[in-house]
Amino acid sequence: MTSFKEFCRVCKVIEETAGSLDMTDLVSELFSLVTTEELPVVTHFVMGEVFPAWSDEEVGLGTGLLLNALSKSSGISVKKIEDIVRDTGDMGKTAVKALSKVSKGQATFSSFLDSPVELSIMEVFERFRNIASATGKGSQTSRIKHLQYLFNSASSEEVGYIARLAIEDMRIGVGEGIVRDAIAKAFAVPVASVERGYMLTNDMGLVAVTAKEGGDEALLNLGLQVGRPIKLMLAQVTPDIETAIKDLGIVAAEWKFDGARVQIHKNGDEITLYSRRLENITDSLPDIVSAVKKAVKANSAILDGEAVAIDENGRPKPFQEILKRFRRKYDVENKVRHIPLTLNLFDIMYLEGESLIELPLQKRREFLVSSVENSDLVRVDNQLITSDISEINSMYEQALRAGHEGIMLKNPDSPYSPGKRGKNWLKKKPVMETLDLVVVGAEWGYGRRTSFLGSYALACHDPDTGRFLPVGKVATGISDEQLSELTELFKEHIISESGTFVEIRPHVLFEVAFEEIQKSTNYESGYALRFPRLVHVRDDKSIEEVDTLERLDDMYMTQRK
Ligand code: AMP
Repeated sequence: MTSFKEFCRVCKVIEETAGSLDMTDLVSELFSLVTTEELPVVTHFVMGEVFPAWSDEEVGLGTGLLLNALSKSSGISVKKIEDIVRDTGDMGKTAVKALSKVSKGQATFSSFLDSPVELSIMEVFERFRNIASATGKGSQTSRIKHLQYLFNSASSEEVGYIARLAIEDMRIGVGEGIVRDAIAKAFAVPVASVERGYMLTNDMGLVAVTAKEGGDEALLNLGLQVGRPIKLMLAQVTPDIETAIKDLGIVAAEWKFDGARVQIHKNGDEITLYSRRLENITDSLPDIVSAVKKAVKANSAILDGEAVAIDENGRPKPFQEILKRFRRKYDVENKVRHIPLTLNLFDIMYLEGESLIELPLQKRREFLVSSVENSDLVRVDNQLITSDISEINSMYEQALRAGHEGIMLKNPDSPYSPGKRGKNWLKKKPVMETLDLVVVGAEWGYGRRTSFLGSYALACHDPDTGRFLPVGKVATGISDEQLSELTELFKEHIISESGTFVEIRPHVLFEVAFEEIQKSTNYESGYALRFPRLVHVRDDKSIEEVDTLERLDDMYMTQRK
């Protein structure tokens, strides 16, 4: 059994290490050191996750609860702890500082125990699991108690990492790439096999244990499983249809429906639906569940599609309407009546026990068509296989006339590549492309808006350094109602405050439109946006989908041309 203290010792060394090769070595040593039971937990912990991204289990602790627990454990007021957050800019350092001030007379859990406890990695995990499973009345108190127990049983180094795990932000610079290489090194398996295993299972913890127990052979046996969502294949922008034809030759053209992505798992009569962020949204969409049950004839299948909210004329309603359905937990039936949905299926990844992702799109399409009986609610729409530009243009115009976003042009020979954004799926929309940027800060307003967070600082991602680089601020396009919703949302993710500016944990993406992208020395990305305005809060997208610096470079170059 490995102690949590040992885990924290290694994290500290990793945190102080700059080179990614050295970091990989340290993570790999850690993976070799821990037991098989601890391995998946440690794999997630180093990446700042408690549970795998696809899992229904979620820690769900906001900054508010964490501050509350720290206050109870330290005897210091929440207000004073907020001052420390402002000073340190980091929850980990805040926890260490607050708890180092615990007065001798302060009763802690461990002060009631005969001998001080030494936390094991598994015990910390179990406590987080208890926190995640607490529901209903009294759940807040119970969550705070579990956190308090952890804080009061921990040494000062451990306290910092517990606080960071609580908000799933480890800040030691370890991401999927380092974990992938570390698994390969620790268990002497090829990086490509680890990558493939991850692509199919979406769970690095499972991949690590499989590599440890069965080596490369076992990794190659990993496959898709109904009930475990896989990452979605993503699309890249094409400036125009001609370029797409130049890139792909013949294309499979489909409407780009204006809705929200859904991944559908069917196992007999059991249907599970996942959002683009792979959250389980089954309970919010009972109408789609029963329609899928009837329309999909296969016994077991994993399918990909777009749910569209439709008005009385069958035209798509605004995107925000559909999110109201996806998020609904109570009074679902009422929303089913008011915001009816249809589901357009466009891909199939798994059928009757077999993975289809390595098959070419055309072949998958045959399986899709033969597995689905179109109904009013669920359908496989037309697809055109062609290289004829005028034919594609008229499909594009039809899609726009019907109120949809544009068209998708796909490579008919391409496999389904989970989590990949590449040239095999191209999207063509009429408007100038927008950027999906992550909110990293905000400003408290003044006058009528003093109690609202506005003027949001935005950043893109630099995959080379793993950092988020500021691109500017957006304050237009936000209604008063939205401002109040966003303030509530971001309050839970404040890392530090200085004057009226607050730093926000990168978590939520804004889709922003703008007039022009300019070179600028004001922001670390080297770019600034002219007249940016908020188009949508993309809370259907995960942080991994934030646009990269490379995308900004490309946009800048295209614009200059
Ligand atoms: P974007 O959200 O702009 O990156 O565009 C890609 C999204 O378009 C996908 O994630 C789907 O949600 C949506 N979409 C709509 N129709 C299709 C289609 N026929 N094939 C693939 N994606 C589609």
